Amino acid sequence: MEYIKPEPNTKNYKMLLDRIIESWQKDPEKKGRRPKLLLHSCCAPCSSAVLDRMCRYFDITLFYYNPNISTKTEFDHRVSELKRLIHEMGIDKERMDEDGALLGNVSVVVPEYDHREFLEIAKGHEKDPERGERCHLCYRQRLEKTAEYMDTIREAAESGKGAGETTYDYFCTTLTISPMKSAEILNRIGEEVGTDHGEAFLPSDFKKNGGYQKSIELSREYDLYRQDFCGCEFSKAAREKEREERMAFRDK
Ligand code: SF4
Repeated sequence: MEYIKPEPNTKNYKMLLDRIIESWQKDPEKKGRRPKLLLHSCCAPCSSAVLDRMCRYFDITLFYYNPNISTKTEFDHRVSELKRLIHEMGIDKERMDEDGALLGNVSVVVPEYDHREFLEIAKGHEKDPERGERCHLCYRQRLEKTAEYMDTIREAAESGKGAGETTYDYFCTTLTISPMKSAEILNRIGEEVGTDHGEAFLPSDFKKNGGYQKSIELSREYDLYRQDFCGCEFSKAAREKEREERMAFRDK
């Protein structure tokens, strides 16, 4: 997999997303149809604020493909928190909010967990720092699988064998809400993956306009499990090392 070198932030991805939403809503050919979004989700806390915003405009399927997570127990726990979140937000079924806007119909797809898929791409990058090359490969792997799933659904619909109504208009990821992750890198990878698959990648920078702060508030409101490491064993070890160093410094 290709390494993508970080570059200075050149685009306002939040503004690009706003424009796409606005132009869809104004397009008479859409006849009021809501676009369908395949949204790669990394965890419930990050998904909370993204769903809070996006389910007003999109019919959403959350795609929980995260082979980077170090253990099956951790993976299962994050999946169950995600399902609990959409149920408790009341968006697992269609409903109107207090302003009469349509919300909901959010579903979750969880491909089989196989951590070996991640270890394969991370080989040789075990010591990379967080936000480095290993992370870029990890983002790409997750977005690739999301676009592949979108392709599968489209092909099934076009061949008349699948449920045509679930063909997606866009894919994107909740990962851009994290202050630890570069929206520029994620969007560049997403655009490349989208071009390769002939699918539309939706640009985003969900941390903007208080998005990250909102995810903290919603995590508190729904008492969500907030892991203190990104997902892989390397991020877990880095977090533990930081903790030990802090303790050693405090005890001096
Ligand atoms: S730190 Fe996070 S983004 Fe980076 S490789 Fe590990 S799980 Fe993936």
